[in-house]
Amino acid sequence: MAVGGEAPITVQSMTTTKTHDVDATLAQVYGLHGAGADIVRITCNSVEAAEGLAEIVPRSPVPIIADIHFQYRLALAALEAGVAGLRLNPGNIRKPEHIRAVARAARDHAVPIRVGVNAGSLDKDLLDKYGSPVPEALVESALQEIRLLEDEGFDQIKISVKHSNVPRMVASYRLLSEKVDYPLHLGVTEAGPLPGGLIKSVAGIASLLLDGIGDTIRFSLTTDPVEEAKSGRKLLEYLGLRERKGLDLIACPSCGRAEVDVYRVAQDAQEALENEKLPIQVAVMGCVVNGPGEAREADIGIAAGRGRGHLFIKGQVVRVVPEDEMVDALLDEARKLVAEGVEARLAAAEAGADEEAKKEAALLRDLQGDANESAERRAAVAEVAKAE
Ligand code: SF4
Repeated sequence: MAVGGEAPITVQSMTTTKTHDVDATLAQVYGLHGAGADIVRITCNSVEAAEGLAEIVPRSPVPIIADIHFQYRLALAALEAGVAGLRLNPGNIRKPEHIRAVARAARDHAVPIRVGVNAGSLDKDLLDKYGSPVPEALVESALQEIRLLEDEGFDQIKISVKHSNVPRMVASYRLLSEKVDYPLHLGVTEAGPLPGGLIKSVAGIASLLLDGIGDTIRFSLTTDPVEEAKSGRKLLEYLGLRERKGLDLIACPSCGRAEVDVYRVAQDAQEALENEKLPIQVAVMGCVVNGPGEAREADIGIAAGRGRGHLFIKGQVVRVVPEDEMVDALLDEARKLVAEGVEARLAAAEAGADEEAKKEAALLRDLQGDANESAERRAAVAEVAKAE
């Protein structure tokens, strides 16, 4: 799988099993692949692990990268096992002759190397020089290692400069991107458990991707790595960097106007639709006053009226259903929409549904007032309050 240049941004994750346990590791690789990982990294921390890789690689549905720390010989063994890439940590494989030996072997196998700098395991000399793992120190560590690889005529290089501090992580990659043209692997290291780990990862990775920096990403979460793969894939889809593969559910946050328990309906809809793996955007809106209009960009959606659900496609109501049938009706229409297309489903709209929905929305607006008028009303209130 290509990384860098015009290739799509890829999602990576890492197994947590013992690599010598081939069946357990392969089961996790398949799980990660199913959740959205394009590339999977596996630790190669012992001879048994390298032997495990020799069995895992040919049976894997995705390219396997061997993660190497301390022992350069295990990098050579992983290459023999047939891995598609290596990750070397410059902080703990420090002897130039060892790095050069790996470069020569990787070149012979036509396998890329990621120079994976990590703030937590930065080269000691650089830590002494800079006092702390500042962006300049991380970048210098990467550049030193790259020079050694380049000296061996090796240029199949990817780089990461991960930090657990988001602003420092972003600054490190920005600095690095000014100095090299190699593909960059983005990640906030040791981001932690949910929800904080997710927020840190998204903040750091998305900031860079939106500026056109980054070629492959990994969320380092302290949870089932399936969540890493899922979150990484979703982030790329939400940023418009990968085609939508599954559901994108949007839902209003609910408010005093809601005619239904929006949280429950959104949760039920998410569970029902996620199983179907339909590549569509679905909206769940708490009221018909603003719902269909605000969610008109969604492929399909449902908004709650008084005891009823208004099912709409691209903002046009096509059916009105009893409230307790909202989720079933949404699922049924979503399947038909994917199978038949928007035009066909709009043509199959229930006669009078849109009219009926408009009347109900007008009625609710009369009862509750129009949210869109609230700005005007606030201005009028302020004027009255200020008057002497
Ligand atoms: S769609 Fe209706 S219920 Fe939901 S937040 Fe907007 S106004 Fe409130």
